[in-house]
Amino acid sequence: MSYSNLSWMNFDISDEQKNFLERVDTACKSVRDHETECYLAEKTNNMIVPEFGKIGMLGCPISKKYGGLGYDILTYAFALERIGREGNSLRTFFSAHVSIGQMVLQNWADEEQKKKYLPETVSGKIIMAFALTEPDAGSDPGSMTTKFEERGDDFILNGKKHWVGNGTFAKVMTTYARGPDGRISAFIVDADSKGFHAEEMKNKMGLLSIKNAEIRFENCVIPKRNLLGTKGKGLSIAYSALIDGRLSVAAGAIGVMKDCLDESILHSQKRQQHGSALAKKQLIQEHLSSMILNIESSRWLVYRACAARQKLQDYVEGIKERDQNWQERLNREDREYSDLRARADRYAAIAKLHTTNAAFDCANRAVQIFGSFGYQKTNRAARHFLDSRAITIYEGANEVLKLKIASLELGDKYQAY
Ligand SMILES: Cc1cc2nc3c(=O)[nH]c(=O)nc-3n(C[C@H](O)[C@H](O)[C@H](O)COP(=O)(O)OP(=O)(O)OC[C@H]3O[C@@H](n4cnc5c(N)ncnc54)[C@H](O)[C@@H]3O)c2cc1C
Repeated sequence: MSYSNLSWMNFDISDEQKNFLERVDTACKSVRDHETECYLAEKTNNMIVPEFGKIGMLGCPISKKYGGLGYDILTYAFALERIGREGNSLRTFFSAHVSIGQMVLQNWADEEQKKKYLPETVSGKIIMAFALTEPDAGSDPGSMTTKFEERGDDFILNGKKHWVGNGTFAKVMTTYARGPDGRISAFIVDADSKGFHAEEMKNKMGLLSIKNAEIRFENCVIPKRNLLGTKGKGLSIAYSALIDGRLSVAAGAIGVMKDCLDESILHSQKRQQHGSALAKKQLIQEHLSSMILNIESSRWLVYRACAARQKLQDYVEGIKERDQNWQERLNREDREYSDLRARADRYAAIAKLHTTNAAFDCANRAVQIFGSFGYQKTNRAARHFLDSRAITIYEGANEVLKLKIASLELGDKYQAY
């Protein structure tokens, strides 16, 4: 009989971590009203950095060595789950700043770069972003046309990125460009670099309190010390960042579903039609039980994906401690690293695909339960509905994730994208 050994997964957390999550809960409550105002006014919520900064959430999974809390991937996911209840807009800030921002530096930067940037990102002095997507290279970042060349002590970048979350105010971001030999490299870019331009993208359907930017690099000057990782390995860095990005979206989606359920229960118990509460109607209960099913199935997938990602993290940290040339070692064929990374990638893709579809379904059901009251942006279910449309597109559009999941099972020669 074949079976999956699940003993490597442990979802226990300490009292200290529980206390931290309680502080996250308090911070979420303290920004809730302002978040609603900002969403309706399409403004950035300026309470996020001070309120979440003071409890350490701006550096939750970042090592204590750089000022972070040094929490594991699962604790960070629990925090994002709570934040997700306030909406995908608020959670997206953390995905961009922490998951595909700071964590990319923590994972791939050299010591000097980490010391220079990470402490200020934890304090909130520097907000981060991730600039990969281009107008003509979305699901296929390997076809990017942003270019770099070397000039003396600098790299010169030319090209355009778009949809960059936090991009209007981020002081630092990672970006990705193709060199003269055709290979893609990763860079740390300071927003005050010569030739860097950021412009807000307007007319979004949802995610209204988070800002996205179009970034133009016009002979943008980046010092050579800001190369991230090994030259030519940029796409691998971007894809590893997307594992963390997908996990963050998936964890937040559980919170979205929980809020849709809570709001729906409250409303359906209060609202009377045809002589009794909506909550007594069997068809309304069908909506509620579907939401509960979505939440419970999503939790399992996300926590399991976190455990797989943690295993990868622990392995890489061990190598970093033992081997100064760890980047070269990982770039060479390190079988265990490849296997652990493929597993983390697989579970993160499955979790993101399922939870984002489930969150959109929950939001849709919640709007339906609210009836006409759910058709205004002042209603939480309406906002979840609008925002959840984006999460099936970004961090890997769901069609592409389906193909990825299938080809990881079938083998590379069946890759359909
Ligand atoms: C709100 C928002 C925030 C974002 N934030 C960021 C950010 O911070 N940083 C960043 O770099 N990018 C960001 N993005 C960009 C996002 O990652 C891309 O939109 C996404 O990767 C899809 O690319 P695309 O929009 O160009 O769509 P396309 O790649 O053109 O895809 C369009 C449709 O075709 C499908 N498709 C594509 N290829 C295939 C295939 N081979 N087979 C079948 N179907 C396929 C897709 O699934 C999708 O449904 C953001 C996007 C949004 C909407």
